[in-house]
Amino acid sequence: MNLTTKVLIGMTAGIIVGLIINLGGFNTASSFINEYLVNGLFHVVGRMFVNSLQMLVVPLVLFSLICGVCGIGDIKLLGRIGSKSFFLYMITTAVAIATAIVIAAGLGIGKGMNVSTEATFDGRDAPPLSQVLIDVIPSNPIEAMANGDMLSIIFFAILVGVSILLVGKKAKSLVETTELLNEVMMKMVSIVMSLAPYAVFGLLARAMANLGMDLLYSLLGYVLVLAGALLFHLFVTLQGVLVLFSRLSPALFLKKIRNAQVFAFSTSSSNATIPVTLRTVTERLGVNNSVASFTVPFGATINMDGTAIMQGVATVFIANVYGVDLGIAGYLTVILMSVLASVGTAGVPGVGLIMLSMVFVQVNLPVEGIGLILGVDRLLDMLRTSVNVSGDAIVSAVVAKSEGKLDINIYNDPNAGIFDDDDVAIDTTDEKELAAAVDKTHGQ
Ligand code: ASP
Repeated sequence: MNLTTKVLIGMTAGIIVGLIINLGGFNTASSFINEYLVNGLFHVVGRMFVNSLQMLVVPLVLFSLICGVCGIGDIKLLGRIGSKSFFLYMITTAVAIATAIVIAAGLGIGKGMNVSTEATFDGRDAPPLSQVLIDVIPSNPIEAMANGDMLSIIFFAILVGVSILLVGKKAKSLVETTELLNEVMMKMVSIVMSLAPYAVFGLLARAMANLGMDLLYSLLGYVLVLAGALLFHLFVTLQGVLVLFSRLSPALFLKKIRNAQVFAFSTSSSNATIPVTLRTVTERLGVNNSVASFTVPFGATINMDGTAIMQGVATVFIANVYGVDLGIAGYLTVILMSVLASVGTAGVPGVGLIMLSMVFVQVNLPVEGIGLILGVDRLLDMLRTSVNVSGDAIVSAVVAKSEGKLDINIYNDPNAGIFDDDDVAIDTTDEKELAAAVDKTHGQ
């Protein structure tokens, strides 16, 4: 059984167990199930796994991007990859939110609805664009790494790579060492991925057990319209981009991207999924590391199609509930604001709602309205993060194909890069040789 199947089994079992706990009413505050399973075992297993993924993100992005820049072969290509991916990320996000607004407004969701909530939501003002730009350059790269500031890390890694190229031939051994470090990090990704079936079970069982079913029913219209808009974007708009710009097979893409989607769904974090997205994009889709090492972390930060769709649907929904007419100008501001907000915010769980509050402030919608959708956001965050990550992968493939950096044989081979147990098996001959090498220098 391959890993994807195992993870899907873990995911389905987690959903079923979580729903049984939820619907069976076993999740009461101080019950054994609540304390020792849902908030005990499931929580611990799930969080340990998310931490393991997050542990890999910064070193992996750093080493793979330095290698990517050194291996690019033509430094001008770097500028082209940067501008093409930036353009595609922005356009797809704008199209995503525009589609969502049209669908939600067309269906008139929230009109005449009388929902009230006690949940409150503290909004935040959007950081000025100038600050986002200034922060791209880290005044302290170690601090940027410690905080996981992705744009700063990307900037620093590119600068290191370019400087290595300037140093030239002398730096060959440094490049080789970085390549090795990158390979080691990729092996760590494999180790963590091999544990996913159990962890995904824990994450989903807990999420489903804690889901507010009553809220879900009362907001069913909002949930269904949002889910429909997300699926439309994934299957129609994004696949259209793939076919239009690169003539690659959407069926193969969707089959190969499944692992990354499931990881995104379970963790609700594009950032934590970076290691899996990077592995999937390079080894399953055939995108050269020189492109993927940039487009994947860049996309995880600035590209959030699924989040933009949530913002579109939520804006229409809340405006209708409060009886506010935003008008064309208002909606155009919403589109612009959410595209801008996506640039400076990292892909972490729940950040979409914070971005939504930034948009609401700009168009004078009541920020407390976000409290209405707070209760169902956990589930929707999972769905939209899968769409966010799919968008990152599509743009990576499109940009790579346009620059001749996509290995079409890998893309067309359904089994290429499939995870198997050999990925995490130690070769005993290698093991002995390494032991002998260590013994030579450190042995008694
Ligand atoms: N969780 C999403 C992501 O990581 C962001 C969001 O919509 O809240 O991509």
